[in-house]
Amino acid sequence: MLGLYLVADMREAAWRQAEQNSLNLLTLIEQSVARSVEMYDLSLRSAAAAAPRADLAALPHQIRDSALFDSSAKASGLGAILITDAQGRLKAASDPAVASDLTLETMPSLATLRGKPGTGVVVEGPRQCLVTGRTVMTLSHRITEPDGSFGGMVTGTIELAYFQSLFAKLHIGQGGSINLFHMDGTLLVREPFVAANVGRSIAGGATFRRFKESPRGTFVERSAIDDAERLYAYTHIAGVPLIVDVALGTESIRAVWLPKAVTVGALILGLCLATLGLTVLLQREVVRRAAAEASSRAANAELAALAATDSLTGLPNRRRYDEVIGREWRRASRSWSPLSLLVLDTDHFKHYNDHFGHQSGDVVLKALARCLEETLNPLDAIACRIGGEEFGIVLPGASAAEAWSAAERIRRAVVGLQIPHAPEMGGIVTVSIGVAHVVPGAQDTPEALFAEADAALYEAKRSGRNRVRMVEAPVPDRVPALRA
Ligand code: GH3
Ligand code: MG
Ligand code: MG
Repeated sequence: MLGLYLVADMREAAWRQAEQNSLNLLTLIEQSVARSVEMYDLSLRSAAAAAPRADLAALPHQIRDSALFDSSAKASGLGAILITDAQGRLKAASDPAVASDLTLETMPSLATLRGKPGTGVVVEGPRQCLVTGRTVMTLSHRITEPDGSFGGMVTGTIELAYFQSLFAKLHIGQGGSINLFHMDGTLLVREPFVAANVGRSIAGGATFRRFKESPRGTFVERSAIDDAERLYAYTHIAGVPLIVDVALGTESIRAVWLPKAVTVGALILGLCLATLGLTVLLQREVVRRAAAEASSRAANAELAALAATDSLTGLPNRRRYDEVIGREWRRASRSWSPLSLLVLDTDHFKHYNDHFGHQSGDVVLKALARCLEETLNPLDAIACRIGGEEFGIVLPGASAAEAWSAAERIRRAVVGLQIPHAPEMGGIVTVSIGVAHVVPGAQDTPEALFAEADAALYEAKRSGRNRVRMVEAPVPDRVPALRA
């Protein structure tokens, strides 16, 4: 947005400046052309006014001529002033060198002036001067006799080379031009000069239509002469049917603002790209960090899971057991719901290791873990390895009866595994299970629950192993009583 605004502003300023420059130049040229033409025309007018005077006609030629012609006709570029009779025959000339038998009867001005009594100055050109042979434009006035009849004309010439040299002194820039046109569309003078252009008519062209629209103005148009696009500033010259214009090539105006605009545009584009690049880098960094954080979170979670898992059996370990029992204890306390705990110990396991080897002992521990998983519903029970060959099973919401039957199911399932043991140890691997049950009250603790289950386990061992025992906790004194 900023870039577009800057570029538009540069363009606008360049065009405004170009328009102002061409108008200034136009004013200068207009004044110069108008002054030359006006002074000369004044001499022609006074000659036209004096020509019919009978008293002057009676005077000797030399005296008459000095009364008819003032000295302005001698200025550079201005030709001799000639006075003709009604047929165009020369009657007097400001320059005595002009041949006295000269006749101007073929000049279109003569016919024009004869036909229109009220006509002011008639301008013609470009044409060859009948006296000097140079390319000129002619200015002619009618001579009206005292009785109103046509008495001839006063005519003078201005060399077009005079304007050409004036225009050539002004530096209009690449592709520009300065032109002087007759009001009928004929080109009289053009800088840069091309001989073939002089005398061409642009009357049918778009530029000329614009010239005629108002006495002064500016516009952009394609040239009727060379088709180049230009910014035109033009004016009609007061009192004579002439138009002068200063035309600047739009290419040269563009050359003022476009390179700057391209530089500014490139800078802004560069800035935008740099910002975009930085944004992309930043975004990548944010994504990279997010990914790093996510993977570190995953690694931490994995680590935490590892820290809470027993590597041999894959069951939650003692640390996890402590968390689970704590959490379930709080939940049961809040909702006044029951909580049961089984503590399971493998029977004669030391002997098993001694007999079958430690590695076989590990295989048995894994088999017991799988058996626990298969026997228990994971939604109702969390089985953890809490010691070497000991397991703790938390049963949230389980009544004493449910806990007892879960323990029995486990015991029987282990028997069902039929893992061989030494014959003197009963022949198969068995487990003993202590059950404890509580609806946690203010004075109860998870440790007390465990102690109760452990006591029941001890009792199971004591009474022969491969059995389930439960500590009854009679209210209110909670003296442990054991039940088979
Ligand atoms: P009881 O029936 O009274 O429980 O007898 P027990 O032999 O099982 O009791 P004790 O506590 O004396 O022995 C436990 C044995 O468990 C000792 C140890 O060698 C074994 N043990 C503990 N952890 C592991 C283990 O990770 N792998 C193996 N293979 N054996 C283990
Ligand atoms: Mg043990
Ligand atoms: Mg044991």
